[in-house]
Amino acid sequence: MARLNTFPVSFAVRGKRIVIIGGDGEALAKARLAAKTSAEVVLFAERFTADFAGLDVRLVSRPLEVGDLANTALVFVADHGPAGARALNMARAAGIPVNEVDVPANCDFYTPSIVDRAPLTVAISTEGEAPVLARLVRAQVEALLAPGIGKIASLAGGLRGKVESLIHDGAARRRYYEDLVTRPDADITVAEELLADHAANGAGQGVVWLIGAGPGSEDLLTLRAQRLLQQADVIVHDQLVPAAVVEMGRRDAEQICVGKARGHHSFSQAQINTLIVRLAGEGKRVARLKSGDPMVFGRAGEEIAALRKAGIAYQIVPGVSAALAAAADSATPVTLRKVSSGFVMATAHGADDGDLAHWAALSQSGLTLALYMGKAIAADVAGRLLSYGAAQDLPVGIVVNAGRANRTLYAATLGQLAAGAVDFVDGPAVILVGRAVAESDWANAADAAASSFKVA
Ligand code: SAH
Repeated sequence: MARLNTFPVSFAVRGKRIVIIGGDGEALAKARLAAKTSAEVVLFAERFTADFAGLDVRLVSRPLEVGDLANTALVFVADHGPAGARALNMARAAGIPVNEVDVPANCDFYTPSIVDRAPLTVAISTEGEAPVLARLVRAQVEALLAPGIGKIASLAGGLRGKVESLIHDGAARRRYYEDLVTRPDADITVAEELLADHAANGAGQGVVWLIGAGPGSEDLLTLRAQRLLQQADVIVHDQLVPAAVVEMGRRDAEQICVGKARGHHSFSQAQINTLIVRLAGEGKRVARLKSGDPMVFGRAGEEIAALRKAGIAYQIVPGVSAALAAAADSATPVTLRKVSSGFVMATAHGADDGDLAHWAALSQSGLTLALYMGKAIAADVAGRLLSYGAAQDLPVGIVVNAGRANRTLYAATLGQLAAGAVDFVDGPAVILVGRAVAESDWANAADAAASSFKVA
């Protein structure tokens, strides 16, 4: 196995000084880093060309003198001229570790990429071999750690005495801490409530996260969704959420599909409500994963009502709704100055004539209409919109499997859609209707008058 040539340590700098030589962008970058600590940060340079405003650092416009290094923990040299060389020697003579920026030969230490969730820090180093790789890894770690997680570390630290006095069993204490640190939004009140609960019941209370999974690509999940999926004990998901997205969850989480798969038993809404209430009631953390956004045609209203009634904690995590994925795929600005002053998300399925009359007027007036659950009845809906006064030439765009690698786009006018039985590919679809749809990117549009107007 390859051995490390550097030894990662966390250097104590509290009550000490960090000295930086230089006044340009390189010095600024180091100053930003140093200013994250509680050390006194002092820069020495003939001239300060970068903008240090807003940083809690002291700027000294003269060369470094030996006396400046009293009580100094670290020195950064970001000046590759004679002043820098002199400072380097002074620091060496005083036995203070030095780093000359981007000159590995003159470095006693390297600065890793840092994920800062003070007091929690993650340092990533490639021993200077591949800073780009370190930054990439850092971005991935950033995504995994909630912004508030450092606060949790402090909270846990502050509560240690109390926890020990209330929970005597070591394993039970660990379960409490595990429960606490996976609630990045917790404050002292939540932490103490949770503690009282663990002390009384030996376990934490369950929670239901109503999570939007987006349109079906793993990378259209939000970071928060991903994080909560990693914490869930059970993932209850709809059929529309592809396996690859469900797989983003914790490996050993139980998975329950409540969707309407052909030939499979599917759950009624009442059964789903009962299921999530029961699971959370058992103390489980339940990720209720829904396609798109949970609040848009997701029956979230019923589930939230059931959770409230049962007194179960819940949290809602928004997701990219199918209409917005369709807008992105087709480059449709659903609102557009002077063309479309608004955007309506509506269900085509079960829309009554009053709704249709209303939409026909709205889409005539410029509002963009996004119809969900309308693929199978697209021609019928188009025909009825026409009968309520929508224009024959109103632009229509249909995106099947929006936001997914296998998406398919169709473009037409309302008249054409009403007239032609379109042989759509398999998959969920959003129908966009309105003047703004003409601004979309249908560059590869096939002849829209053809009976099937599939666009590659
Ligand atoms: N909560 C979801 C909607 C669920 S209703 C959301 O916000 O997107 C189910 C309907 O959503 C489908 O009939 C279809 O109209 C639409 N839909 C869901 N995923 C889609 C996708 N990837 N592409 C196109 N339409 C989709």
